[in-house]
Amino acid sequence: MDLGTSGADIERVVVTHEQIQTRIAELARAIEKDYEGKELLVIGILKGAVMTMADFVRTLNRHVEMDWMAVSSYGSGTKSSGVVRILKDLDRDITNKHVLIIEDIVDTGLTLSWLKANLESRGTKTVQILTMLRKPDAAKVEVDVKYVGFDIPTEFVVGYGLDYNERYRNLDFIGVLAKHVYS
Ligand code: 5GP
Repeated sequence: MDLGTSGADIERVVVTHEQIQTRIAELARAIEKDYEGKELLVIGILKGAVMTMADFVRTLNRHVEMDWMAVSSYGSGTKSSGVVRILKDLDRDITNKHVLIIEDIVDTGLTLSWLKANLESRGTKTVQILTMLRKPDAAKVEVDVKYVGFDIPTEFVVGYGLDYNERYRNLDFIGVLAKHVYS
């Protein structure tokens, strides 16, 4: 779905479809280099990272294994607390694997720091993170995110996998949701 169809629900476009595709290709080239000669398992975090995962793996010029996890982080209202529950775990053992987590957005970083530690505790060789978006607050938590698509302001965004009440995931760009949608 594009801006024309989503219309007045989007206040401002933050990252265009073209910018996303260009950045994904840049990240894919860097990752091909960084993991040369090594097997790589990419783990997409459902549901937000579906679009990033699908575009990223199709841009990679190498073999890769894929798996998925779903997690939910508890908190009051819209704030993440860092208490994470696994809704869907991996289908396989990841001992001795080079793992790359694919995430949609890092806000406080609490979810990802928990997830990284969880995967590292399973005997992986390495665990790195690729996120499409990162908000400034992410700097507050000690989580090393090696590959970042775009740093964006602290605003609630939707599109390209990110939802508001399960809608807008199928926008082909990322935009700020208009206030009238949720107020
Ligand atoms: P963290 O633990 O880093 O604060 O939480 C990250 C999670 O919060 C993301 O995976 C996403 O589900 C949600 N989130 C944070 N910021 C936004 C946003 O601007 N838009 C949407 N749709 N979800 C967000």
